[in-house]
Amino acid sequence: MAGNHNAGRKAIFLDRDGTVNRNTHYLINFEDFELLPGVETALRIFQDLDYRLFVVSNQSGVARGYFSYAAVEALHVKIGAHLAGLGIRVEAFAFCPHHPEGTIAAYTQECECRKPLPGMLLDLAGKHGLDLGKCIMVGDHESDALAGLNAGASGVWIRPETAVSPPSGQVDNPPKIKEFASLLDFAESLREFA
Ligand SMILES: [Mg+2]
Ligand SMILES: [Zn+2]
Repeated sequence: MAGNHNAGRKAIFLDRDGTVNRNTHYLINFEDFELLPGVETALRIFQDLDYRLFVVSNQSGVARGYFSYAAVEALHVKIGAHLAGLGIRVEAFAFCPHHPEGTIAAYTQECECRKPLPGMLLDLAGKHGLDLGKCIMVGDHESDALAGLNAGASGVWIRPETAVSPPSGQVDNPPKIKEFASLLDFAESLREFA
């Protein structure tokens, strides 16, 4: 795609926990951050295909009082620096601190940003001049892929490490959601069809 004048306007929105890093319960300490197998290679492939990278994460632990908003920001600075050391540039980390059943009043609300709502993606698209029609949201929950579709982007569901079958209560993926066994499988498929 070299020379494409639209290069740089397309992005991959990455869910964080269970997609980029191993899902630990309400991750907040960088010491507990562990990239999932194949993720480093996958992120490199996305970059090589001229996708800009954003992390888009629901962090209801803020509303639940498990950790502060600032602590999430501090963790993201460390994750960003770690990835930069690997030659991978995440342009921004967006997160939703809200939950309707939280314990911290300031964050206990129905919001526009908690996935599957598209608020974080729409905000990033506006701030970074992204063409959502060329963007893809990828994550290990259906709500991640749905956030992509709700934003007018594509949605990809990565089967969680521990899952042997689709999430309970889900009869079929909505037809527009593409499914892959891992982030690396998805990246290699993108490269194949680029
Ligand atoms: Mg996840
Ligand atoms: Zn929110």
